[in-house]
Amino acid sequence: MLHEPGKPPVPKEEDGGPCHLCNAACCRYFALQIDKPKAKQDFDHIRWYLCHEGVAVWVDDGDWYLEVRTVCRHLQPDNTCGIYETRPQICRDYGLPGEDPCEFFTKDMEYDLYFPDDKTFDTWYAERKARKKAKKHKKRKAA
Ligand code: SF4
Ligand code: SF4
Repeated sequence: MLHEPGKPPVPKEEDGGPCHLCNAACCRYFALQIDKPKAKQDFDHIRWYLCHEGVAVWVDDGDWYLEVRTVCRHLQPDNTCGIYETRPQICRDYGLPGEDPCEFFTKDMEYDLYFPDDKTFDTWYAERKARKKAKKHKKRKAA
């Protein structure tokens, strides 16, 4: 692995993921894809998720995800995996740059939308509603 000071290392496929240089970011949460909200009730459910500590919702390429920030019970104090030999497949597949690189490589973690709590979601929802209303008004005027 190449490692220039101040820059992320450039890993070689055969070395595996550079997990020894990371604070095990991916072992501190899990995320599940959820249905894209359509009805008013769907938005209210998302608001409810976001009322809980350690929960975030984000949108990436139009897909919606629920993120639960909780540390894996097998993560060791030195950031190594306590069940390395029998770790789940998803942990094995994650980490190398390629089609779906882990957050070690995608430091920017840019999402289409990111809601860390219900307050942020409420603000976005109110703005969305106002935008929709204005659009409808404009359409009516044009007709
Ligand atoms: S897979 Fe990526 S994010 Fe996870 S510990 Fe390894 S380098 Fe860090
Ligand atoms: S099982 Fe091991 S690799 Fe997988 S999340 Fe837990 S500590 Fe990380």
